[in-house]
Amino acid sequence: MHAHNSHEHDEPESWVSQLGYAEDPETPLTADTFPSKSGGRPAWMNPEHVLSAEQVTCGNCDQPMVLLVQLYTPEDQPSEAFHRTVYVFCCKKGSCIKKDWTKSFKVFRSQLPRENPYWPPPGDESEDEDAMDTDFTPKQFKAPTLCVICGLAGTKQCGRCHSTHYCSRAHQLADWNECKHKMFCGKTSDESVDRLRKAQVFGEKEIVSEAEGREVEKLEEEKYRKKIQEAGTVEEEEDDVEYDDAPVDSKVSVDDTFLQFQLRLELNPDQVLRYDRVEYDMPDREPLWVQKDQKPSNIPACEKCGGVRTFEFQILSTILNFLAVSHTSEDSLDWGSLYVYTCKHNCALTDVFTPEYIWKQDFSADGMRLGGEAPPKKSSA
Ligand SMILES: [Zn+2]
Ligand SMILES: [Zn+2]
Ligand SMILES: [Zn+2]
Ligand SMILES: [Zn+2]
Repeated sequence: MHAHNSHEHDEPESWVSQLGYAEDPETPLTADTFPSKSGGRPAWMNPEHVLSAEQVTCGNCDQPMVLLVQLYTPEDQPSEAFHRTVYVFCCKKGSCIKKDWTKSFKVFRSQLPRENPYWPPPGDESEDEDAMDTDFTPKQFKAPTLCVICGLAGTKQCGRCHSTHYCSRAHQLADWNECKHKMFCGKTSDESVDRLRKAQVFGEKEIVSEAEGREVEKLEEEKYRKKIQEAGTVEEEEDDVEYDDAPVDSKVSVDDTFLQFQLRLELNPDQVLRYDRVEYDMPDREPLWVQKDQKPSNIPACEKCGGVRTFEFQILSTILNFLAVSHTSEDSLDWGSLYVYTCKHNCALTDVFTPEYIWKQDFSADGMRLGGEAPPKKSSA
């Protein structure tokens, strides 16, 4: 999301959120391009070690989850995090998320130092092009086989052709029946197979980022004050008619959180993600909450180093428009916002992946009602 040497923030006041937008990729989002993207198969930053279906299984339906988002978020320090990618997986089934969402999302952090066996160190821009490292030789290793459906470790294979790999029985079956492997087993498959396989995971978009812009704050304040006034008037009228005896309750502050959220979204309605990870010495940032309730009471410590986790980014409901999943309405995916918390100090990883934390907020019924229209779900582009 943010590149090296982009940290020009002198004071916390000058910090603005980076907004992520989903766009059609101009070039393939392969691992060597360190992509930030939604959907598709994971682009593994560490090409030798990849996640297996066992690590990314939905606790509700026991099926492998699919990639929702991966963000490339390099850090200047520590040096282990020179390359850094956060992977977010979720179950495709809305019914699982409704049942117990905590079992249907997984987040992993992966890091590589500048000098690593896989990718040449990027040249220093201040140097001549000729002076760039040209003697880099990538490590020779046996590339892991990948599931043709979801891109997780392909530890199983088709028993007939032995050349098509799967992460799980579930994806083997999906390939056989829905993606025509039944027809193409042992033969060269045509383009339609690729399309059918892609349809088994979320639609792939590049996530490009842009600073939210500081004028937002003034504009927002003005609009916010206006909205509060309007909302106040509506509330009073309703009270007069129907709820004469009702005391002034906390609905105003529910409204408050939701209105702020709605205003931020209205200013840049196409945003699908908000990135807010701060410098190590800066005060933590508060996410843009969808409602005042349903906040996490406690963010568990980093499982690796025991240190605190801080808020890094949130995935908005607007991303649902780009995932291209078709399902019945009762099984549709839905959330107000997903909040990802990661180890504040970016501890060094002894394994390739370390789990991080995710929280989900829904739109509250109050917020939806009092806020008038639902927050934008359709891209206006
Ligand atoms: Zn599930
Ligand atoms: Zn798979
Ligand atoms: Zn086969
Ligand atoms: Zn840690």
